Amino acid sequence: MKTRPRINTAFAVVGLAMAAGILAATGICAYGAEESPSELARMTSNIHWLGHDSFRIDGDGQVIYIDPYKTAGGAKADLILITHDHADHASPEDVATIRRSDTIIVAPSAAAAKFSDQVQIVKPGDKLDIRGISIEAVPAYNVNKFRSPGVPFHPRDSGHVGYIVTVKGTRIYHAGDTDAIPEMQSVHCDVALLPVSGIYVMTAEEAASAAAMIHTRVVIPMHVGKGIGSLKDAERFKTLSTVPTVILKVE
Ligand code: ZN
Ligand code: ZN
Repeated sequence: MKTRPRINTAFAVVGLAMAAGILAATGICAYGAEESPSELARMTSNIHWLGHDSFRIDGDGQVIYIDPYKTAGGAKADLILITHDHADHASPEDVATIRRSDTIIVAPSAAAAKFSDQVQIVKPGDKLDIRGISIEAVPAYNVNKFRSPGVPFHPRDSGHVGYIVTVKGTRIYHAGDTDAIPEMQSVHCDVALLPVSGIYVMTAEEAASAAAMIHTRVVIPMHVGKGIGSLKDAERFKTLSTVPTVILKVE
């Protein structure tokens, strides 16, 4: 997978091969371990948390939303990415407040069915280029969160997704509703938006394990604050995570 090179000072000293060996031996990803506060602020400055899993990302003259929910309007969208069909992620009422006639909506098929407008349907593994924005749909599913015995809230075969979207050269991974899954090992990004509330998604503890598995420089915790989980989960995640963590203010 194409990714931006990340070579920090320590790597330059010990050499890439040795560093790779150390990382392989420890199983720990060191991306982001030495990010400065100003670099973290730069990477996250165009990412606006609208609460829960809802984000607005300001690109180069383009406005991108992911899972807009209880957003109370805002800048009109060029692109709206929906992770799955649950009401707190695929909200036609919220989409209606931010869409223009030419807004492009991307969603898996069950979520797309909630919208009367034409929607670009994706499944895990798809790669799209929309208006110069690169979008990768990646798997999102439960391994140990069940609504009834043997029935996960987010079954793998439902085709729910997370997204990796590249905006202004920064790769932003929105994990969707998911547990820590092996596919996360092949996610390379700069910023990872990870759910931490537990119940339907990863707990703060599980998300900390996921953060160490994902190749990311910074994590923003999410899926708290609007009926599920609380900021305390986000704060607990921050104390547990070995990856630099920024808790955004809800806008
Ligand atoms: Zn869900
Ligand atoms: Zn959810």
